Amino acid sequence: MLQRIVNRAQGFKGSYRSASSVSGGAPEKPKKKGQRVIASALPMFSPCGEAVGALLSAHDRKQERVRLGSEWIHVSALINGECLRAVGIAHLEDVTAYEKPRPADRLLWAIGKAVEKHIRDSMIELYGAHNCMGRWQCPCEALDFEGEGDLSRKCGKCGKPASTYSEFNVKHRGTMLSGSPDLLVRREGSRKWTPLEIKSIKVVPKGGVVTGAPDFHNLEAAQRGHVLQVLMYRRLMLETGHEMTDEALVCYGAKDYVMQSPYKFFTIDGEAEENVKAVNHLMKSAKEYALALKSRKVTGRSNLCPNHETNKAKGCHCKVSCFSRKS
Ligand code: SF4
Ligand SMILES: [Zn+2]
Repeated sequence: MLQRIVNRAQGFKGSYRSASSVSGGAPEKPKKKGQRVIASALPMFSPCGEAVGALLSAHDRKQERVRLGSEWIHVSALINGECLRAVGIAHLEDVTAYEKPRPADRLLWAIGKAVEKHIRDSMIELYGAHNCMGRWQCPCEALDFEGEGDLSRKCGKCGKPASTYSEFNVKHRGTMLSGSPDLLVRREGSRKWTPLEIKSIKVVPKGGVVTGAPDFHNLEAAQRGHVLQVLMYRRLMLETGHEMTDEALVCYGAKDYVMQSPYKFFTIDGEAEENVKAVNHLMKSAKEYALALKSRKVTGRSNLCPNHETNKAKGCHCKVSCFSRKS
């Protein structure tokens, strides 16, 4: 019965049906009083908690068509080692793919986003909007600008200030890199900005199984990928004419209850030799991509794909074109 309900939910096109036509029988009695209220919000389905859970999972699993190609390389793609040849092919040939995230992933993303938003909103309150750079909008969105916040400016239409923050997007033509720092903050009276990257992190309870992935308790330094990400934002801001401090910040928020502070902040030295070297290396790869793209070409094949039978190639949406292209 459950599978039938899920199948129907997946094929559901928007018109409501009676509960009996879907459940195929009398609704099961909820085990406790009060649970019926939740189910009654979905009039076409059986008020059975298990079925509602299955419906929600089916809804989460809905397939999404995503455009893989953009001429811009997102900083996170570069850090995550995405193949720039694939990025170029996807853009030149407008490649699309279907994604079907698992419900557990969607829920975890939602928790992570909520943690990150809480930290960012608190930081804006602490520093003051005038010391935070981003995109600012009023409730009706008629007042919409990028830069430091200015709550004294009121919208001519709704009369409200532009108090809704979203990330500043920095784009650099020389490398075709684009990135959105979670927040750019400055000390009161300073002209220089510091990028802040915010991450949520799981908490393994004491005595729990610690897998290879980092956990809030044993985190003693910012992870290398996050360090590079925030340093790349700093470099792109510098390259596009912004004044920046030598530092960058990475903040982690615990994704579960902890007894001590749920935040860990790390300050990164943007001018340390090994950091400058790593950033230069990433900028060089992106420059090669940008140069090739100017003449509608793509960079060379990845070492991980000597032929189309490797795991990397098998999972690549652009492999057919990759192995048939001359450049
Ligand atoms: S098959 Fe490999 S080298 Fe070719 S585009 Fe895909 S990931 Fe890059
Ligand atoms: Zn407005």
